[in-house]
Amino acid sequence: MTHISIVGAGFSGAVLARELAEAGCKVDVFDSRPHVAGNCHTARDAQTDVMVHTYGPHIFHTSNEKVWDYIRRFGEFVPFVNRVKAITGGRVFSLPLNLLTINQFFGKTFSPAEAEAFFKEVGDSSIESPANFEEQALHLMGRDLYEAFFKGYTTKQWGMSPSALPASILKRLPVRFNYDDNYYASRYQGIPRDGYTAVVENLLAHPDIRLHLGTRFERSYSSDYDHVFCSGPIDAWFGYDEGRLGYRTLDFVREDHTGDYQGNAVINYGDLSVPWTRISEHKHFAPWESHEKTVVFKEYSRLCDEADTPYYPIRLVAEKTLLSRYVERARQESKVTFVGRLGTYRYIDMHVTIAEALDTAERFKEGMGTDQPMPAFVVDPLG
Ligand code: UDP
Repeated sequence: MTHISIVGAGFSGAVLARELAEAGCKVDVFDSRPHVAGNCHTARDAQTDVMVHTYGPHIFHTSNEKVWDYIRRFGEFVPFVNRVKAITGGRVFSLPLNLLTINQFFGKTFSPAEAEAFFKEVGDSSIESPANFEEQALHLMGRDLYEAFFKGYTTKQWGMSPSALPASILKRLPVRFNYDDNYYASRYQGIPRDGYTAVVENLLAHPDIRLHLGTRFERSYSSDYDHVFCSGPIDAWFGYDEGRLGYRTLDFVREDHTGDYQGNAVINYGDLSVPWTRISEHKHFAPWESHEKTVVFKEYSRLCDEADTPYYPIRLVAEKTLLSRYVERARQESKVTFVGRLGTYRYIDMHVTIAEALDTAERFKEGMGTDQPMPAFVVDPLG
């Protein structure tokens, strides 16, 4: 019997646990928190009865059919389209940038082709190969849209100038020359009817999975297992002894109201003068429910301190250099594989986490009963 230990009961850990238990392994899952589902955790709010996304809004989206089919075995996902609004300069617009945003912002009635031609005109063509977030935005949309929607928001979110950030962060968001205001370009989107925590609980509901909540996994426990999968922070595994990898964390300031506070699940705030990045009103993530009261969270981003919850890996040059030292050490370990957002220090969404956990489980199963070693990483964290 193969004994597996998994650090972290988020999507990475839960999918791995399930797959390996179904393959005949005995699995122990450890999480230092008192609940499963990591930062996707949801809980029914005692005051309002609203299903609250405790660590901020999570909208499940993927174009990966395998992931979509897999996750729906563990809970019903109700179709949900995230239609974000943005307030900037005292006006409200639609996000991601689409034809309505462009036309309203410039007071125009452009057709798709006209808007595209206009973008070519206002985009900074002197920037041939954009080297950072700011250059990417200026190249693509010009200064006015960049300053209204991205400069202030990104400065608040990351605590630094967008010129210091990689262009890849901007590329998360589509720009559309039509009226499609769906925040995501993914084929499948939805929100679990009973919340993410119920989905993760269902993943973990297997007779060969034992769950240890409120329990920090110590490296010394590793000797009791044939293999460990760590979805916790890679620097924590090594006792932070090379230094701490930088993260952004979030503070959520709660307000309770009656009725409808903002008329939408998420409203972003583009102005630097407004200290929060966005406000989310969680009952709008479950439009199939009805609640008289409402709860909203103003979201503030700041540098993650030792006692805080890590959310967004910063991944600039200094962090990547430090990461490479941990990666080198991880590759010298023989019985541990690092997975997920924290284990690989990458800004990845839920569906990517699930796809990678399924691949990792597959890789491990192929090697079972052979002397083929399991690598420290199935996806290169430096790639
Ligand atoms: N962003 C922005 N303005 C917005 C929304 C996003 O400048 O109104 C930038 C910001 O830098 C953010 C990135 O785009 O970090 C990715 O946004 P996304 O909504 O994907 O972030 P998440 O939901 O993961 O926080």
